Amino acid sequence: MLRDSVTQMNGIGEKFAADLAALHIYTIEDLLHYFPYRYDVFEVKPLAELIHEDKVTIEGRVVHEPSLAFYGKKKSRLTFTIEVEQVAIKAVMFNRAFAKKQINPGDTVTLTGKWDAHRLQITVSHYKKGAAGDRATIQPMYSIKGEISSAKLKKTIQQALRDYVHETTELLPERFLDAYKLPDRKQALRTMHFPTNRIALKHARRRFIYEEFLLFQLKMQLLRKLKREATQGNAQHYDAVRIQGFMNLFPFELTKAQQTSLNQILADMKSPYRMNRLLQGDVGSGKTAVAAICLYASITAGKQGALMVPTEILAEQHYHSLTNLFGEKATIVLLTGAVKGKKRKEIVAAIENHQVNIVIGTHALIQDDVIFDDLGFVIVDEQHRFGVNQRRALRDKGLYPDVLFMTATPIPRTLAITAFGDMDVSAIDEMPQGRKEIETYWTKENTFERVLGFIEKQISFGEQAYVICPLIEESDKLDIQDAVDLYNQLLDFYPDDVKIGLMHGRLSTEEKEGVMKQFAENDIQILVSTTVVEVGVDVPNATIMVIYDAERFGLSQLHQLRGRVGRGDKQSYCILIADPKGEIGKERMRVMTETTNGFELSEQDLKLRGPGDFFGKKQSGIPDFKVADMIHDYRALETARNDAQEILEKNLLEEDEEFYQLNQYLENSSFFTDKLD
Ligand code: ADP
Ligand code: MG
Repeated sequence: MLRDSVTQMNGIGEKFAADLAALHIYTIEDLLHYFPYRYDVFEVKPLAELIHEDKVTIEGRVVHEPSLAFYGKKKSRLTFTIEVEQVAIKAVMFNRAFAKKQINPGDTVTLTGKWDAHRLQITVSHYKKGAAGDRATIQPMYSIKGEISSAKLKKTIQQALRDYVHETTELLPERFLDAYKLPDRKQALRTMHFPTNRIALKHARRRFIYEEFLLFQLKMQLLRKLKREATQGNAQHYDAVRIQGFMNLFPFELTKAQQTSLNQILADMKSPYRMNRLLQGDVGSGKTAVAAICLYASITAGKQGALMVPTEILAEQHYHSLTNLFGEKATIVLLTGAVKGKKRKEIVAAIENHQVNIVIGTHALIQDDVIFDDLGFVIVDEQHRFGVNQRRALRDKGLYPDVLFMTATPIPRTLAITAFGDMDVSAIDEMPQGRKEIETYWTKENTFERVLGFIEKQISFGEQAYVICPLIEESDKLDIQDAVDLYNQLLDFYPDDVKIGLMHGRLSTEEKEGVMKQFAENDIQILVSTTVVEVGVDVPNATIMVIYDAERFGLSQLHQLRGRVGRGDKQSYCILIADPKGEIGKERMRVMTETTNGFELSEQDLKLRGPGDFFGKKQSGIPDFKVADMIHDYRALETARNDAQEILEKNLLEEDEEFYQLNQYLENSSFFTDKLD
């Protein structure tokens, strides 16, 4: 049986099984699915085209009997001459004494190996009797470790294919195989291991790429469905007329993207299932405006809302903008670590008595004594800044509240449909009209004085600037411009009436807020800072963002920093000072100067970094696909996603005979057991 241990196969003992286990091959099925990590394609080429020291394939006639020499312990060398294009080529083969009998004068052979153009000699790694024919030889390459040899592994796989491939079941329904012209499972398995030609191999790979994506999408979408259905009973009966009335008070119309996102959220709220949705959009794209409308909707349904943000400054900013927006329409309180003693007690009591409609705060919100009367809507801003437990703690303060996560770091579509299969995603991918695009420039350090001069000019128009540098203390390993140094340099450069502030991670929270406040009130014109300004501070009068050593930042971080300017109606500028050494670093700078759209940028970032690096480490939830590659095979991913959606919508798994195997597979999958909390 396929699920049996490999030891059930003839000739596989405990020792070999242990070697296979090191490759994560335990069952016969694992063995069948242990695909080559690449294929070497050997085509016979004319002698004139062979490159010295390359791996090449030649075809010729054996001229005379091979001669065999033994040396050392059990080592041997077989030499013979073949005639290729009327040239005598010497062939050398190590440790394959047995081949002597197989290679006879007059035979045609195809040899693959390392070419020595000076001696007209090939060191053979692979040989085949007979002509190459018009097909290229495709050599699968397996990753191996420990004692296992590639040849032995291949032999074992061949044996498994011969004895067990008939037991494999087709998971993919006929209609997909037909529609996408994919080979069936048995044939594709054989081809993956023993490809006969390139076209067949391409189709076999296509099949497994699609299968991997489809299974993954089905799992994620099923998970989402199961999670939803586990949390019934929170339908929010909001008042659409009052919501419209509220929106009419706004001094602007929603953008199309805002309207679409809003509709998606409102539909979730109305549904009996708990919302679990991510709202993505660049800084300034109007996420908060949408969030405010949803909070209001929840209020009209008789519920309370909570907004959790990562820093006190940000909490205060949201508090001010939302109290302005809501006016008399809601009672809003601020709850941060700075709120203490009697004041805090009063606020906490008011929340519990439902005298408060909306609470805005930091993680102070999730302390045990904060109890809501009826929390219906939860927003977590910059969600990646909170841990899973913190997010859950807030959510658990209500009975299945609808949860909206917000982020200004857009996730590429490619990743969103993969990693967040269990979360719904809304995207605000356009800016409100009339915004001026931030002009972005990339320069080298030797123009720094000119940059400083430019800042001075803009300051004379009443504007302000950020100057960012990566780290606070000089490191002896890295040549990093230190914030303090830079600060001193600027003090020297500018006349005294230009006030300069310094902010870095070593300052206390109060000190930081003090500096930020001075900057917000234009008591400081230039703020030299490490990346602490990254999160959401709003100073519309700041129009210049200078980023020192910009090559040390990732694209999304650069984009975040750039988002600190361009918040008012004045033209803003972002100046990247960078001298990246590698091509990728240069490409990053180019991308920054060419696009201001966070979604486009994140796609570029993904391409430059690869999916593994994008989120960092394991937490991404992105599986290691064996054959598929999310970026390269993106079209297949989209197709699979749509197919998975249709399968679930039409309930094909249960109602259509063709989907029986697929359903069996999913029901037996361990995927869901540890993911449903
Ligand atoms: P985000 O939370 O995505 O950073 P905000 O909701 O704070 O964005 O909006 C940024 C600014 O743009 C605010 O001053 C807001 O009033 C304004 N704004 C939001 N939506 C629109 C719109 N559709 N048209 C014009 N201005 C808008
Ligand atoms: Mg709901």
